[in-house]
Amino acid sequence: MSFWFVIGGSILLSIWLERATKKRRQKAKSGKRRSAPRVNTTPPAPSTEIRPDVVILQTSLQELSGFEFERLLALYFRDQGYKVEETGVGGKDGGVDLVLVDRRGERTAVQAKRHSDHNKVPVQKVREFVGAKRNHNCVLTLLITTSDLTEPAKKEAEQFHMEYWHGGLLELKLATWGKYNPTKQKQRAVRNEAATTREVICKCGHSMVIRKNKQGVSFYGCSRFPNCRHTTSI
Ligand SMILES: [Zn+2]
Repeated sequence: MSFWFVIGGSILLSIWLERATKKRRQKAKSGKRRSAPRVNTTPPAPSTEIRPDVVILQTSLQELSGFEFERLLALYFRDQGYKVEETGVGGKDGGVDLVLVDRRGERTAVQAKRHSDHNKVPVQKVREFVGAKRNHNCVLTLLITTSDLTEPAKKEAEQFHMEYWHGGLLELKLATWGKYNPTKQKQRAVRNEAATTREVICKCGHSMVIRKNKQGVSFYGCSRFPNCRHTTSI
């Protein structure tokens, strides 16, 4: 009697155990499924897609992506007679974006930093760049930025005999080159600005000025307000 009881009990126990593990597995599976969207929300890797060279040559430095800025420099240095290796495109390389090879086979590592004016290259970037040049068998280093280096970064660069171009020098080099011509876009910007600042005349013959209502929406109101209450939308 107790024998059958033990057998029956152990069968029941094994069935229960099996069910429990099944449930656990299902839970684990659904847990995975639930966590999947979280994985997807991680920011996508920066796109390596770049616009055609013709477009890049007419786009202002501020509007170029990091990769496009590198391409612009590659085009520039090819015209200066260098063989250019575009090492930075699509990979982490410790800060070497281009390798310039001159006619004697001497290799220069180039780092291209596209920064806004107030955002200067810190000393740490200079140090990383000095370390990274060895990965590409380069002797010389050239740091190119659209802004400038911080004072400590400049000192460090001089100490390591690193050449650097600040924004002003870069613009001069590009202007001398002659192929980089973002003025078309600039002219368009100027035209747009002129369009928004054109004089608007009120029905009463006086000029109108831009005002804002309580909701923060801009409109044209007569400059003679409150004597004339005429308004027009912008
Ligand atoms: Zn008026």
